[in-house]
Amino acid sequence: MRIDVFTLFPEMFAGPLSNSILKRAQNKGVVEIRLHNFRRFAKDKHHTVDDTPYGGGAGMVLKPEPIFDAVEQLRKKTGWFPLFYLSPKGKVFNQKIALEMSKMERFALLCGRYEGVDQRVIDGLIDEEISIGDYVLSGGEPAAIVLIDAVVRLIKGALGDEKSSQEESFSNDLLEHPHYTKPKEFREMKVPEVLISGNHKEIRKFRENTSYQITLKRRPDMLKSKGEANG
Ligand code: SAM
Repeated sequence: MRIDVFTLFPEMFAGPLSNSILKRAQNKGVVEIRLHNFRRFAKDKHHTVDDTPYGGGAGMVLKPEPIFDAVEQLRKKTGWFPLFYLSPKGKVFNQKIALEMSKMERFALLCGRYEGVDQRVIDGLIDEEISIGDYVLSGGEPAAIVLIDAVVRLIKGALGDEKSSQEESFSNDLLEHPHYTKPKEFREMKVPEVLISGNHKEIRKFRENTSYQITLKRRPDMLKSKGEANG
């Protein structure tokens, strides 16, 4: 997979992309992530990328020309790709969308700043607006990092053990069961007996049950959407 990111702050990606699973996935050739600073495409001597909003009001708006030029130049060079704009007004990102995106060969992300981008960028270039939740960030970069992380770990070969991503929260419309590791007892808190019993059938039952209970308690909406909650 190839992911291109259009951003004014490429350096914000340095830490997240050069550690752990994202680093390994890139090294293994599972994903190629390219960062593009669209300030480079601003033609005036101060490289201006924003301006005051027509109609007045607070804040600055990202101008259309540098973004159009950056995206069109890359499309000319490498071929067409879908472009998603990270925006609090977008469709709310979730595991299902992450899974769909993990099957794409290629996509690109546009990170906004200030009050966001000129509407003509959205109308003329954007395939879909994606939000990572009902809150407002200062910029699209943290949202892009969240999305990239969630998508890349679902690509075959990104994780050491494929089962990890198949068995975790949201993958089957349930939150995951609790985990325990050694020691068996810690500060008088004991690991549930069943997990050390070696009885795989009982262990599976325990996990299914705790997974269901935790979902019922914390996210009954998930069970309702499966048609499983009793009122
Ligand atoms: N004026 C915008 C509004 O009220 O909808 C908010 C702009 S926000 C301060 C600046 C940028 O951060 C946005 O253009 C977007 O790229 C990004 N952003 C903020 N919240 C986000 C969210 N929940 N999901 C994805 N991107 C977000």
